[in-house]
Amino acid sequence: MLSNLAVRDIETLVHPYTNLATHRETGPLVLESGKGVFVTDSNGKEYIEGMAGLWCTSLGYSNQELVDTATEQMKKLPFTHIFGGRSHDPAIELAEKLKEIAPVPISKVFYGASGSDANDTQVKIVWYMNNALGRPQKKKIISRLKGYHGVTVASASLTGLPNNHIDFDLPLPGFLHTSSAHHYRFAEAGESEQDYSSRLAAELEEMILREGPDTVAAFIAEPVMGAGGAITPPEGYFEKINAVLAKYDILFIADEVITGFGRTGNMFGTTTYGMNADTISLAKQITSAYFPLSAVMMNDTVYQALVDQSRKIGTFGHGNTYAGHPVGCAIAIKTLEIYKRDKIVEHVRKVEPTFLRCLTALADHPLVGEARGVGLIGGVELVSNKASKAPFEAKKGVGAKSVLFAQEEGLITRAMGDRVAFCPPLIITEAEIEEMFSRYKRALDKTL
Ligand code: PLP
Repeated sequence: MLSNLAVRDIETLVHPYTNLATHRETGPLVLESGKGVFVTDSNGKEYIEGMAGLWCTSLGYSNQELVDTATEQMKKLPFTHIFGGRSHDPAIELAEKLKEIAPVPISKVFYGASGSDANDTQVKIVWYMNNALGRPQKKKIISRLKGYHGVTVASASLTGLPNNHIDFDLPLPGFLHTSSAHHYRFAEAGESEQDYSSRLAAELEEMILREGPDTVAAFIAEPVMGAGGAITPPEGYFEKINAVLAKYDILFIADEVITGFGRTGNMFGTTTYGMNADTISLAKQITSAYFPLSAVMMNDTVYQALVDQSRKIGTFGHGNTYAGHPVGCAIAIKTLEIYKRDKIVEHVRKVEPTFLRCLTALADHPLVGEARGVGLIGGVELVSNKASKAPFEAKKGVGAKSVLFAQEEGLITRAMGDRVAFCPPLIITEAEIEEMFSRYKRALDKTL
């Protein structure tokens, strides 16, 4: 029996990333409040938020300092834009702080409001820059199958997931996808992680040569694939990718929308995996998700090309109303302050062994083919046969079933097909990590 709220939801909302047909029968999970790593639904049931919302509520729920910061900024100046050379203190201070902590030399920061629009900006900057540099043919962008970069027309073209393309008439021409880097699923029998990484780098190089290096502008990758199933890269992967990109003068865009701000045990995943990024996309944990804000950090070569273009053609014709929103920037400044003061990255490193021990212990379960992770992000891959790694038939929806059973057990997590992810708030304690995984283990037992 659906609640009154559920009926009203079905009558009014089109939900993102939802099976709109089955939703009409099942209705929504309605959340009402949150505290620490816990959220409570409209029936008063409490859950561990094992996904930090959508990989984003790093400081958990009800953080009073962030609430107070937002309130103060709202009272002082709830909005001003940064178009046409206008500016404000929080936008400037946040950019300074981002430059200070950036994992690679960064010259400037461009703000947006979502991870998707940050990656859309990345695409437009790459195109604009190459026009500025007098090489208009160098425009193609390579991303990876199973990579996730958002849902705008350009960022969905970067995304390498079928649901984002089928019947949306995407990807656009000029967006190419190379293999995802998932050793468990795609390595050949007996192939080491290093050898597998070399094979993937060679495949990328072949694609570049086939297309013509003077037509390929950029490569984009997440340090750890999120929506593709919480997949950590194989050993040596980014080192070998760096070399290929450098050889053909191809820009490296790191999509740190999930991994930015401590998730992998370093401030940035770029550092964890030694990515020679030229530009970086940030969102989500930049404000602990207390406000929609994103940022593109760019190196000086990219920035100078944009300035040169303004000298030639005038206004840099890109940006949205809420770019550098003062409330978002103020919250982000406070979030960065808390990360530093409370040693959040050190905390992630401290609890990582517990997270990985509990996660990898799930691999003993008959349904789990692989369990992998880094820092406080990880996933399991459910299989119908552990020896052959044979997946379940997609229509069985085994991953989704396990997530529903987890909900019964008081845990929110997320299935991407039969890959189930864990990405709790970064403030989670060791005891809460143990509890999170024991709840999922009970859910798996029910799924059997
Ligand atoms: N990039 C990555 C790596 C993401 O995980 C996401 C969202 O999950 C995005 C981009 C898109 O961000 P948004 O949903 O804020 O548009």
